[in-house]
Amino acid sequence: MSESEGTGAPGYAVRGAGPAGSGAPAGVSRRPGKSPVEGSVQGPVGEGTEVREVARFRRELGLSGLIDVHTHFMPERVLLKVWAYFDAAGPLTGRPWPITYRRPEEERTALLRAFGVRAFTSLLYPHKPGMAAWLNSWSADFARRTPDCLHSATFFPEPGAGEYVRAAVEGGARVFKSHLQVGAYDPNDPLLEPVWGLLAEAAVPVVIHCGSGPAPGRFTGPDPVRRLLARHPRLRLIVAHMGMPEYAEFLELAERHPGVRLDTTMAFTDFSEELSPFPRAELPRLAALGDRVLLGTDFPNIPYPYAHALRALARLDLGDDWLRAVCHDNAARDFGIRPAERTAPGADGP
Ligand SMILES: [Zn+2]
Repeated sequence: MSESEGTGAPGYAVRGAGPAGSGAPAGVSRRPGKSPVEGSVQGPVGEGTEVREVARFRRELGLSGLIDVHTHFMPERVLLKVWAYFDAAGPLTGRPWPITYRRPEEERTALLRAFGVRAFTSLLYPHKPGMAAWLNSWSADFARRTPDCLHSATFFPEPGAGEYVRAAVEGGARVFKSHLQVGAYDPNDPLLEPVWGLLAEAAVPVVIHCGSGPAPGRFTGPDPVRRLLARHPRLRLIVAHMGMPEYAEFLELAERHPGVRLDTTMAFTDFSEELSPFPRAELPRLAALGDRVLLGTDFPNIPYPYAHALRALARLDLGDDWLRAVCHDNAARDFGIRPAERTAPGADGP
């Protein structure tokens, strides 16, 4: 999508950025509106500056759009709980985790569009049984009213999981989320066998939080996923956060299994490098896997601006081809999204 799209989102007036680099900044101006989260909105994020910064990143690569495979949209009361969790994240990570984009939903989608994100996900995940089917019905509705969202779904090891996952796939779900740390389940739980079988068969990818960051869980780390892939080698897993902090092990899994992808969510940023730095020695493997790495960000639950996640990728210095593949082309191929128009890198755009 061009940066001038995205107008008309309720609650926002998104002025077209004009041709990228034309010097006409995109502005996202708040319109007074009532939302239950209105009171918790943080101070100005400086959207105009941020939108310009993201546009500059895209312009340098000649990309008219980005695809972000790891963003979160969920029912408001669930999201408020997630934000409360991050507000109290001190005990978990030992440092504050301020949510940069604590905004009403329509402002969050408008901001992604203003960033030029052509497609994104609404990853949600249950922490207990009896929740997944309800979350799936919410996200099916979200996808219906949000055409640029890749219809997302989830599951939990519980009786009936196979049935509601089948229903979600038949209903058009294009990506699933499995959160082994929050869900505290073993991906090899027999209750999930029909789920993995079905998703492997249908070739629907699963974004899986299986690394031990930011805090380890009983079933995080490479071993449970290794066993899972041994039984379902065709499973299309997207390892969230590059498998942080077990980067090398998950790179190896991706090297061995052609269906495995890695998403860049939070990896390489100042915030993550401080705690779980990506080992510089693994950069050549990361470069070689350039067709398997997908942009993810964790928007809106990130403790830094969106543009920082992009700059963190650029400073790896793996080249513009690598960046174009990661930030757009790989996901376009995997999800069958029509190619974006390409501008001449560094040019002022069409
Ligand atoms: Zn996430």
